[in-house]
Amino acid sequence: MPQQLTIALSKGRIFEETLPLLAAAGIVPSEAPENSRKLIIPTNHPNIRLVIVRASDVPTYVQYGAADLGIAGKDVLIEHGGEGLCQPLDLNIAHQPLDLQIAKCRMMVAVPQGFDYAAASQPGCRLRIATKYPNIAAEHFAAKGVHVDIIKLYGSMELAPLVGLSDCIVDLVSTGNTLKANNLEAVEHIANISSRLIVNKAALKTKYALLNPIIEAFAGAIPS
Ligand code: AMP
Repeated sequence: MPQQLTIALSKGRIFEETLPLLAAAGIVPSEAPENSRKLIIPTNHPNIRLVIVRASDVPTYVQYGAADLGIAGKDVLIEHGGEGLCQPLDLNIAHQPLDLQIAKCRMMVAVPQGFDYAAASQPGCRLRIATKYPNIAAEHFAAKGVHVDIIKLYGSMELAPLVGLSDCIVDLVSTGNTLKANNLEAVEHIANISSRLIVNKAALKTKYALLNPIIEAFAGAIPS
């Protein structure tokens, strides 16, 4: 019986931008998740399948070996903590994980236009932060010496400061259009975010012969 390989991906931006990388590894999904309600998508390889999960669940599927390989944003990986996962290294940059250069954006602090963030974020001040990324936000403000009350949300963070739920938000910003449409402005850059390849630690050993050509094909097809 040939070994099976399962790749965990999320719908939308990551799936779309991963298609060329999969193609470089000779993997073609049988259908697009946007056109289907299927959560397991076969590919042209009888022993390789995709599973479609929420972006924030990709590391969990890979951690427990339900998927051997996954693609997840650095934001999601920082929040997850990385237990049970390994990130293949970039052979061109010493000690750096392979950055797939997809779903690129920035993790930013944003406030309502006119809010005096410089004054409100002095060491010793207290801020209410709404975010989907409590660990990233807590670490960022701890390093600044600012006390925070973190309000965990699962989406539409932009609404929170507009209705008095928080003073600011910590969220991903790509074009900046969502902030602008809600009269918010980005005031602090926390980190550049892009997607990473993650591999189940045990699978990297037991399925090396299947996994390694895929990892190498992905590395060779990264957009510059
Ligand atoms: P934008 O209006 O282009 O700045 O996009 C901002 C919205 O898209 C926010 O709701 C973000 O949470 C979300 N977003 C932006 N980039 C990403 C990404 N790479 N992955 C997931 N969500 C993102």
